Amino acid sequence: MGHPVPWLEYQALRVPEKIALRDLDSGRATTYKELSDRSGRLAGHLRELGMGKGDRVAVLAQNSARVFEVLYACARIGAIMVPVNWRLSPHELRAILADFGPGLLVHDDVNDALARDLAAGAADLPRLSWGDGTGHRYEEAVAAAPAVEPGPGLSDDDPWVIIYTSGTTGLPKGAVHTFASVRANIENSAFAGAVGADSVSLTVLPTFHVAGLHLYANAVLMHGGTALIMRSFDAAETLRLFQDREAGVTHFCGVPANFQFMAALPEFADAAFLPVNATVGGSPVPRAMVDLWQERGVNIMSIYGATEAGSSLLAMPPRGSAGPSAVGIPVIHAEASIRGTGGEALPDGSIGELWLRGRMLMSGYWNKPAETAAAIGPDGWLRTGDAASRDDDGVFHIVDRWKDMYISGGENVYPAEVENVIYQHPAVVLASVVGVPDERWGEVGRAFVVTGADGCTAEELRAWCRERLAAFKVPARFEFVADLPRNATGKIMKNQLKKVPA
Ligand code: ATP
Repeated sequence: MGHPVPWLEYQALRVPEKIALRDLDSGRATTYKELSDRSGRLAGHLRELGMGKGDRVAVLAQNSARVFEVLYACARIGAIMVPVNWRLSPHELRAILADFGPGLLVHDDVNDALARDLAAGAADLPRLSWGDGTGHRYEEAVAAAPAVEPGPGLSDDDPWVIIYTSGTTGLPKGAVHTFASVRANIENSAFAGAVGADSVSLTVLPTFHVAGLHLYANAVLMHGGTALIMRSFDAAETLRLFQDREAGVTHFCGVPANFQFMAALPEFADAAFLPVNATVGGSPVPRAMVDLWQERGVNIMSIYGATEAGSSLLAMPPRGSAGPSAVGIPVIHAEASIRGTGGEALPDGSIGELWLRGRMLMSGYWNKPAETAAAIGPDGWLRTGDAASRDDDGVFHIVDRWKDMYISGGENVYPAEVENVIYQHPAVVLASVVGVPDERWGEVGRAFVVTGADGCTAEELRAWCRERLAAFKVPARFEFVADLPRNATGKIMKNQLKKVPA
């Protein structure tokens, strides 16, 4: 197979002194040569710790350039990196760790206590920490360990990364990505965002999900640009960076909540934006949000991603005529199709399930053959569980998740459509609609709304929706809340909202 990560070694020779990664919180910069050297020595240390081909290296850390060092170090020895969500409860993390059985836990100082607790509960799992206190050996190891030179580490079908699904709809499952599927993922992301050697990306999404890893940090690293890494999303700082010539951010990806929070800041009104490829995805995108940013000169590209298939599958620049639900066209390695309940291909315009095929798909869920067989058919198509359609121009529209659709008085209601209308109300910052049982209609909509400083009443929102939606789509209840339960990526956890007592 030659070099395990050919693009990193290529850039380390082409632009050795160029900054590959910069941690915004500490200001620490890593050049391409350093990234290659440091991951080589880290690989040597991982070997000293007994890690080898197929072994799982868990990472429990906030965003850091070091996450990418671990990724590339794993490639050199054929190990599998498993970044886990540090925001989960110890109970949830223990279940995930038991699922994939790590041989080592790499973590940062912020998660020190949690890591100690998890390691102690897992037969004294060895730890490697990059904190500053005593017992933190990461930097020592990277300075002193014997380097593993780039060589045949992974072949196309070897697992390289396991990413756990975000658990928005159920228990997290580990999507196994091989060297070939990760590479296709990165290529898809770079293609969608037109990433090049001069690109400068800003990462705020967590690197334990596909979007945080690839959109656009890994895409930029493949092309020899510079990836800026923020430990975790800070709305004011992100908004500031969009206006900072010295930072020169060209690529950014967020979920809708990231853009909503920035737009809710008082300084948004007179921000002087520099040109940026801004990308949004991860959940249905409120059209009002895209329009608001467009008025301020920022065109937000929509992107559709999924843990099982990578961060970039469908993408497109904003096009007014395509309508609010348009998410785009398949990117370079992706094929997409709309299927009926029997798996038959549906004609353009009909709503069916979105199926995806291509070399970016996971090889399966870790240790879950039945779930894998249910997700990917023998024909190689992934069933996404999303209701979607394709229009006459070949543009795909995500209607909503099948699971989130509810039936009110015999009529299908897709909450994303209702949320889109609620978001158009100027007082609304966040909104989510779920179907709840109702004696008369079977199910009715229950809207949870977070408003900004201005506020509004339930009656105003009801009238607003009545003017714009068919009666059966208007939520029966509007409830104002201080915040909505969101997962670490920023996606609203509808399964929790469905359980809120009436
Ligand atoms: P889990 O599978 O654990 O329930 P999840 O579905 O949120 O969590 P992810 O892989 O993080 O898992 O997210 C993929 C899903 O996000 C897609 O199946 C789709 O429902 C939604 N999604 C992603 N991008 C978009 C988009 N642009 N528009 C609408 N929905 C999107």
